[in-house]
Amino acid sequence: MRLGLHTSIAKSLENAAIKAAEVGANTFQIFSASPRMWRASPPAPSAVKLLERARDRHDLFPLVIHDNYLINLASCSEPLRLQSTAAFRGEIERALAIGAEYLVAHPGNCKGHSVEQGIYAVIRSLAEAAQGLDTKKLTVLLENTAGSGAALGSRFEELGVMRQFAAELTDLKIGFCIDTCHCLASGYDVSSALGLKQTVAEMDRVLGIENVRVIHANDSKGALGSHLDRHAHIGRGCIGEEGFRRILNHPKLRTKAFILETPVDEEGDELRNMETLKTLCRKSSLRK
Ligand SMILES: [Zn+2]
Ligand SMILES: [Zn+2]
Repeated sequence: MRLGLHTSIAKSLENAAIKAAEVGANTFQIFSASPRMWRASPPAPSAVKLLERARDRHDLFPLVIHDNYLINLASCSEPLRLQSTAAFRGEIERALAIGAEYLVAHPGNCKGHSVEQGIYAVIRSLAEAAQGLDTKKLTVLLENTAGSGAALGSRFEELGVMRQFAAELTDLKIGFCIDTCHCLASGYDVSSALGLKQTVAEMDRVLGIENVRVIHANDSKGALGSHLDRHAHIGRGCIGEEGFRRILNHPKLRTKAFILETPVDEEGDELRNMETLKTLCRKSSLRK
């Protein structure tokens, strides 16, 4: 299985890979620049070489990049949408330069406008951002959201429609990243056996399970349908250990890359959450 976590590039790209390997991951996620600034510079080729070597050495695949928090591809304010589109083009260019397999993007927020207008803005923004770039080696993954306020993408239907219509405007490959905390918060009960069964069936029907490439493995501080986007340590939130045991071992999810975005409250939290994921995978094989 592919189990990993989000690591920091503060020291270097290579260091982010080494940190992932140190806690026993075989996949990881990074930001390709500061997630709270518009300005970003391309990675140095020498830094990318070192990253590639570290990934090969430690078998770290796939590499996922998460996009910047300021980007709002759904914005119905044209200046902000254009600024977001330009920044997202930078995200695509850096992901290609770094050799990442996936670029995760939040669909954005269409405050003051209809969901349809927001979805249309996202599709246009994606197409404009990728225009003229050779993006064959990259897949953009639209992430489901907790659905607070006017955030798009809390319903699988919204994500599915974005992918479907984007295909008419761009060659950019689009798939999905499903966050377990966001699922629960937006009303998909992934904590119970029946709820998980129904959620995965709906994911398959609406998104196509083969298009779901990455699972953000986060427990949830908020209850079912709370729309709270607050991540908890694995097993310590409303999804719980049994919930994660079922998620990790679901036959249609086992092949996905699981990435932790759990809080780091004290030293050792990253390693502990990685160990919990591994234990829950092992437990299931013992039960069979
Ligand atoms: Zn996430
Ligand atoms: Zn979240």
